[in-house]
Amino acid sequence: MSKRILITGAAGFLGSHLCDKFIAEGYEVIGMDNLITGDLKNIEHLFGDENFVFHTHDVTNFVHIPGKLDYILHFASPASPIDYLKIPIQTLKVGSLGTHNLLGLAKEKNARILIASTSEIYGDPLVHPQTEDYYGNVNTIGPRGVYDEAKRFQESITMAYHRFHGLETRIVRIFNTYGPRMRLNDGRVIPAFIGQALRGEDLTVFGNGSQTRSFCFVDDQIEGIYKLLLSDYVEPINIGNPYEISIKDFAEEIIKLTGTHQKIIYKPLPQDDPMQRQPDIRKAKQILNWEPKVNRADGMKKTYKYFKSLTPEELTKKDH
Ligand code: NAD
Ligand code: UDP
Repeated sequence: MSKRILITGAAGFLGSHLCDKFIAEGYEVIGMDNLITGDLKNIEHLFGDENFVFHTHDVTNFVHIPGKLDYILHFASPASPIDYLKIPIQTLKVGSLGTHNLLGLAKEKNARILIASTSEIYGDPLVHPQTEDYYGNVNTIGPRGVYDEAKRFQESITMAYHRFHGLETRIVRIFNTYGPRMRLNDGRVIPAFIGQALRGEDLTVFGNGSQTRSFCFVDDQIEGIYKLLLSDYVEPINIGNPYEISIKDFAEEIIKLTGTHQKIIYKPLPQDDPMQRQPDIRKAKQILNWEPKVNRADGMKKTYKYFKSLTPEELTKKDH
């Protein structure tokens, strides 16, 4: 009998790739999403599949799934800074109330649950690269606090359910991940720069561009999450690509990749924008036997190809 898995945030970027992965591995997949930042287009290719069902539902409300459930992947949450600044209360609610509902469901069904945490729980990190035992440097009342603190609460309540109820839990700390199906207007740096290049606009670097990020291609991220779910490891694990680059150098890479004749322009750095970020992935290597395989040049080519395939309407469409 095939395993049954609930994936929240199924119509989003990572959620839709997870649906594909688990369908390909022979699971019965229940996708759930309220479409606040997601798009049904990301999963429409699965609608004819007998192993896939989709429910439009806000997981901050009670979640009911009839029948057995073996696994839950909780990926519902706004994930880009402009999204969570625009919908701060929903962001806090899905990380707290939504996670509570899904932990309750996991307990009722005796299912294993994996929650999507983030490198943002490290805030603007004072330890570099970030190891899982670093407690972080988060401004609780700053604009990004709604996301960071929701995710920190999410980790705490997940460990409490594990310790108090003996629930099977897993926590992935995801570092900046990119690839096809990112939303062009989600404000994250890769869709922002590629969208600007495709529309013939200048590339907007925030601050002086010396801040760094480390970008992981989606296929690698999905493989890491898959391995973590099936592992015995309960404590949080970083999944990301440690290859770090400054945002200014990255803008130059995108100018070369796209062949755009536009230039870089500088805009103010958003408040609490972390100055550096790089995952320490020794745990993932040792415990999951996982490491990223796709280098940035190859991943970016695939991502650019995806954005180039969008229609002119999609390319100029304003956000949700
Ligand atoms: P996304 O915005 O593409 O997907 C999130 C999905 O969750 C959307 O489809 C949205 O409609 C849905 N959603 C939001 N609130 C909901 C609610 N209350 N009920 C039901 N559905 C809801 O973002 P993503 O990049 O795919 O991120 C997915 C998860 O991974 C998030 O939890 C995010 O915090 C985490 N994460 C992502 C990254 C990354 O680089 N992509 C990094 C760190 C963490
Ligand atoms: N960034 C930028 N120009 C943009 C969008 C983002 O310079 O048009 C910067 C942003 O300030 C941050 C980095 O790129 O330093 C990554 O931003 P993103 O929103 O992708 O992710 P996060 O800050 O959550 O890591």
